[in-house]
Amino acid sequence: MERSAYDVVIVGNGISGSTAAIELDNKDDCSVCVIDPKNYSSDGVGERYLCTKPNNGKFIFSSKNELETKPHYRRPGGELQNYFYESGKAEEFLALEERAQGLLRNWVEDAELNYEEYPPPEKMEEIKEFIKKCNPKGIEVTVSDILSLGGVRNTYALLNHIYQRLNKECSNVDVVNGEVKRVVPDKNYVVLNSGDRIKYREAVLLACGREGVANGIYDDLKARGYIWEKEGKKNLLVGVALEAPSTIFPPAMNYMGEPKLTMGTKKDDIVRTFGYYPNGRVAVVDYGNGIKSVSGIIDERRKSNNTVMGLVMEVRFTEPFEDAPSYGRDIFNLTLKLGGKKPLVQRLRDYEMGRRSTEERIKKAKLVKPTLSFEEAIPGDISMAYPGRIISNLYDGINKLNRVIEGISEESLLMYAPLIVLKPSEINVDPFTMKLETEKKLEGEMYVLGDMNGICKGNADAMISGIIAADSIRKG
Ligand SMILES: Cc1cc2nc3c(=O)[nH]c(=O)nc-3n(C[C@H](O)[C@H](O)[C@H](O)COP(=O)(O)OP(=O)(O)OC[C@H]3O[C@@H](n4cnc5c(N)ncnc54)[C@H](O)[C@@H]3O)c2cc1C
Repeated sequence: MERSAYDVVIVGNGISGSTAAIELDNKDDCSVCVIDPKNYSSDGVGERYLCTKPNNGKFIFSSKNELETKPHYRRPGGELQNYFYESGKAEEFLALEERAQGLLRNWVEDAELNYEEYPPPEKMEEIKEFIKKCNPKGIEVTVSDILSLGGVRNTYALLNHIYQRLNKECSNVDVVNGEVKRVVPDKNYVVLNSGDRIKYREAVLLACGREGVANGIYDDLKARGYIWEKEGKKNLLVGVALEAPSTIFPPAMNYMGEPKLTMGTKKDDIVRTFGYYPNGRVAVVDYGNGIKSVSGIIDERRKSNNTVMGLVMEVRFTEPFEDAPSYGRDIFNLTLKLGGKKPLVQRLRDYEMGRRSTEERIKKAKLVKPTLSFEEAIPGDISMAYPGRIISNLYDGINKLNRVIEGISEESLLMYAPLIVLKPSEINVDPFTMKLETEKKLEGEMYVLGDMNGICKGNADAMISGIIAADSIRKG
């Protein structure tokens, strides 16, 4: 059944989709429909749901790097930023970053939430001392300017605020509660799980994040030849969440908001930390389709004595292999299979002895009490699921980190798996418009935003991609 027709349909009301919708609300005579199965109501933050929703670990927006000495400062990492810098459009990128930051501050202030900014200027000397300690040990440290909204509850409150605003204040925007099963770009409509069709006249924006990669919408467009991953850009982040006593982490790391420590391994690969959650918890993020990843979260009301930090290997693929997400899914499946559809937890000591962990062995540890119960993460042997090269690189990484975070390689350290960032490698999207580049026949334009396009990293890029797409539609 065809429900209605709009100028623009946005699939996904996460951070990139809602930014685009709010920006498009200012465009005269442009009707917009945003579709998402979630309504981000604050009821979703009950204890039961706390750990199952993606995008809630904590909300940080990272921008310029104060310690960078280049003429134009750069946010660490990020293909999107690279495209702008390498094309001589650094100023344009910085302006976009400022616009996104301005929007975020407005939303946060409207929602009456607090935010913190890192690093505090008075702690810069301490941070520089920490970097001086890390560098001779072969560890590179990246410090970003961070605007941190806090943990899961604040993130939910923000998303709920944006949702309410779209629903009540944006007169051109309709918010539809539903899941899109299929996009039909040659006939310009999308089909919901209910069977309803929604038509678009001008453009469809895909903003489904990592869930879209897990739940099949991405695979379907790929199978039909609309989306493909660019040559030489195939990579995947695979790792573990580490849980250790907060007391062992140098205070300088807490002052950075999101310290990123990168190091080489004996196999000449790269591992790096991924997320940092002081007094945090391990959570299970359910992407749907049986895919679950562990992650750190900060729950403002349930602080623990542990710090959770991801450690990931940057896995790079070369021809003829071209399907990085499917490699990630295979590791997910194998790990979750061993855990009876649940993640695994293993003590470092057991990993070193080549045996699985048991509840009794984990309970022996005096300093680390696991924040996930044994019903949520099953004591097991991660090395039975992860490829040898990945597991040995992660082990090297832990030992290298021990040179600057003394005690992290202590035997009671807990490792949780799978932690896989299920994003595609860079796809055929123009980074300056977010438009899909394809020879295939399209009725209307297709835009791919945020985590789904493999170019964007994190909340900042997701917001920027929403602004870029909205600008491009406005100009068109
Ligand atoms: C646990 C965790 C912690 C994180 N912490 C940080 C952090 O601290 N800082 C940071 O910068 N980044 C962080 N990230 C990454 C950040 O959340 C993402 O980069 C960002 O949310 C990407 O925005 P997006 O709009 O692409 O996707 P999302 O914000 O994930 O939104 C996607 C939306 O699409 C909807 N959707 C999916 N499939 C469909 C469908 N078929 N039909 C309709 N709707 C659909 C989903 O319900 C969801 O609402 C974290 C991610 C996770 C999982």
